[in-house]
Amino acid sequence: MKRRDFLTTTALSATAIISTGCHRAKENSINDKNININRGKKVTLKLATSWPAHFPIMGTGVDNFAKRCLELSGGTLEIKVFPKNILVPALQVFDSCSAAQIDAFHSGVYYWKGKNPAFSIFGGMPLGLTSEEMLTWLKFGGGYELWREMYAKFNLYPLIGGTTGPQMGGWFKKEIKSLADLKGLKMRIPGLGGEVMKRLGANPVLLPAGEIYTALERGTIDATEWVGPALDTMMGFDKVANYYYTGWHEPGSILEITFNKARWEKLSDEHRAIITSASEEMTGNMLQEFRYENAKAFKNLPSNVEIKTFPKDMMNAAKIALKEIWKDKSKKSEDFKRALKSYRAFYDLNKPYDDISTKNFLEIRS
Ligand code: CA
Repeated sequence: MKRRDFLTTTALSATAIISTGCHRAKENSINDKNININRGKKVTLKLATSWPAHFPIMGTGVDNFAKRCLELSGGTLEIKVFPKNILVPALQVFDSCSAAQIDAFHSGVYYWKGKNPAFSIFGGMPLGLTSEEMLTWLKFGGGYELWREMYAKFNLYPLIGGTTGPQMGGWFKKEIKSLADLKGLKMRIPGLGGEVMKRLGANPVLLPAGEIYTALERGTIDATEWVGPALDTMMGFDKVANYYYTGWHEPGSILEITFNKARWEKLSDEHRAIITSASEEMTGNMLQEFRYENAKAFKNLPSNVEIKTFPKDMMNAAKIALKEIWKDKSKKSEDFKRALKSYRAFYDLNKPYDDISTKNFLEIRS
């Protein structure tokens, strides 16, 4: 090989490795001999979200993602962002993208557990992995390959599109002193967390974001979870409930930037690499922005708000209920069983070292 050829090949290989980031799946790596560069032809993609326009952190995160794709591609890759209900209702983005009515969407993975129960695992598990741990499982522990394989059946290609960090346990109008206080309690709580609450005697309900405040204010519901101090106070929950509980049900929820698979495969290698890099950047930025904004909002919580931790008997019952849910869903769904097996293998691998590194250090530091 001539020296100049060698240098060119090496440079391209390096670009490929950097661009595909940590989505390490084989099909995503670029064969440096056949790299398909977009030759200045402009591509425009329609992306619908499940959030209102420019919604803080999640919505502004996807706005920045689109901006970065345009910048990194020298203006050849335009992603037009459509907030919820403009092109598609918030919770129909999955079906619409699957049917190629839109090119892509930004949403939360656990919304689609009705399509396949395994999707709730890719979206995050109650009492399970934190955001940093979820990203590690997805990228290095085999989670992402399973997710991509299972989305392919819906003609979809997922990328990680952000993560929230640990979420708070929610706002309650009455204090929860023991497990028995959950009996008949009406709470807005989606996902596997809602299923656990149901087994603990509560009555989980689903409400669109726009209706939660009024329902809590009027007592139609007794409690709600949302995200964390920054977005929760923006919703005004601190004005209608006094007890703010620490989290357990969403320790590391994963958001997605998902593409119609056929559309994704028609993109140039260059555009796919740019989108992948921009999604990685977005994920890091969102996690850091959530941390910063939550810290600020927590500091400024009004004095009527009391921070509480759920009683021990409730959390013990939640752990048992979660394991029963795993058992039931594994019997019904082979995909859930496979995803759970991979998830738990990483959990077991990670925990011993995490306990003596992160957990131990946080205790020392405090
Ligand atoms: Ca939540």
